[in-house]
Amino acid sequence: MDNCLFCKIANKELNSQIVYEDDLAVAFKDIHPKAPTHILVVPKKHLPTHLDLTEEDNTLIGHVHLVINKIAKESGLDQDGFRVVINCKEPAGQTVFHLHFHLMGGRIFNWPPG
Ligand code: AMP
Ligand code: ZN
Repeated sequence: MDNCLFCKIANKELNSQIVYEDDLAVAFKDIHPKAPTHILVVPKKHLPTHLDLTEEDNTLIGHVHLVINKIAKESGLDQDGFRVVINCKEPAGQTVFHLHFHLMGGRIFNWPPG
């Protein structure tokens, strides 16, 4: 997808601190971390928002969640836990319109989120 920041990162047209990659997904450090560990886990398929998921993405999204667990364990977050966030559309805080999962840990999180 032209002019998509996360497609460009997935295609290595833009630099990022990649911590994991496979055929379906890439994960890299958030450029403005909101927690000691803040990693974006991104399906390589260009889907603008969570609402664009269809039945054909079932396997992809299941895979992304297993990737999140793998990175969480490798980052030492399995002991104290972590938060996974999807912002869907601007009012919910979405700023990059390529579906991504925020994996955050290393501090206490409040509930409900702001
Ligand atoms: P969201 O607001 O949910 O769409 O999340 C987008 C996230 O992308 C924000 O947390 C940004 O800090 C992060 N971000 C924006 N540009 C980059 C970049 N070039 N590399 C890594 N993270 C980025
Ligand atoms: Zn994209």
